[in-house]
Amino acid sequence: MRNLGINGERLWQSLMEMAKIGATEKGGVCRLALSDLDKVGRELFIRWCEQAGCSVSVDRMGNIFARRPGRNPKLPPVLTGSHLDTQPTGGRFDGVYGVLAGLEVIRTLNDLDYETEASIEVVCWTNEEGSRFSPPMVGSGVFAGVFDLGYGLERPDNVSGVKLGDELQRIGFAGEAAVGGRPVAAYFEAHIEQGPILEDQRKPVGVVTGAQGQRWYEITVTGQEAHAGPTPMRKRRDALVGSARMIDAVNRIGLAHSPHACATVGFVQVSPNSRNTIPGRVFFTVDFRHPEDAVLTAMDNELRAACAEIAGAIGLEAEVKEFWYFPPRPFDKSCVASVRAATEGLGYPHMDIISGAGHDAVYMARVAPTAMIFVPCVGGISHNEIEDAKPDDLAMGCAVLLNAVLERANAGGDSPRKS
Ligand SMILES: [Zn+2]
Repeated sequence: MRNLGINGERLWQSLMEMAKIGATEKGGVCRLALSDLDKVGRELFIRWCEQAGCSVSVDRMGNIFARRPGRNPKLPPVLTGSHLDTQPTGGRFDGVYGVLAGLEVIRTLNDLDYETEASIEVVCWTNEEGSRFSPPMVGSGVFAGVFDLGYGLERPDNVSGVKLGDELQRIGFAGEAAVGGRPVAAYFEAHIEQGPILEDQRKPVGVVTGAQGQRWYEITVTGQEAHAGPTPMRKRRDALVGSARMIDAVNRIGLAHSPHACATVGFVQVSPNSRNTIPGRVFFTVDFRHPEDAVLTAMDNELRAACAEIAGAIGLEAEVKEFWYFPPRPFDKSCVASVRAATEGLGYPHMDIISGAGHDAVYMARVAPTAMIFVPCVGGISHNEIEDAKPDDLAMGCAVLLNAVLERANAGGDSPRKS
């Protein structure tokens, strides 16, 4: 059986049912990780999974796995899912879509009485958003061995300081299963795009080929404070004038490597920040992103050269410190091919796309063959209560997920057949 469809109406109803938990007045959702509302959402998800015949386990990071057994229990499972936690002013689809699309895959297979070779597990990762506990993606990060378990459980609430592990205990989700360390045949994650490209291109499905690399910098520019009146223009060592030129250079570097580069200065501190004193010191941040490491390296060289040249021309010192580096993460070629083949088999318009944001899939890609499926969101807006997506697009993404999961879950066994 190929090119199977899913029940889009049932998927939409489940999304709307889950969106009631933590619903905000403006039509969004606030369901912070490990809050009382997150507990309610998790329990609803588990109830639905059990009704669908899955066995549910929870690991020590509170990650939930709902397993639909395959014919050959010795084969490693195919995982699919995302997260149920949201931003404080979050929407109804970010993360939730990937979890409930996974559940819809299971429900569809049940409708068809379809037995896969390998087992399928739908996963809900803990604290993807990083809003209540930093860093983000910590549940999948521990699973993938990026962080150790102790680090994950010790994460403090950004406001109250209460520990993630204590909150897991409190809401009854401190599970007993070991975190990760077991083979996974493949991981697929369906997600709203959170950007405008698919909508602009009128493509309902994005075949995600990887996630961008990132280089973050902290730049300190030092000149000399002086009186704004008596100091002639030619004698000045104005750190803010130099920084303004550097910020412009950052923007030009981004444009020079378009369309895939992103270059942003989002944080600036001017010292002493007094209207009649020439600024002596400026601190600002730079966020570079690109899917290719070689281009990120070129951008790095251009940034350092521009800062040195601008500083030299007006007698400033510029310290360029790399603060964080996250290499580009291309997804597994064969998993990406499964997604593309599923999309083509179903006859849906599609395009390749790179993820601009971090996702649990980025960490899972370190330990399992991984790919993602994007669907458009209205206006490209997310992390916002007005976040929206079209039922038809969500259904198409879910059908692609079903067929990609099936291809992997039946690989390594006999040809798929009904039980
Ligand atoms: Zn998300």
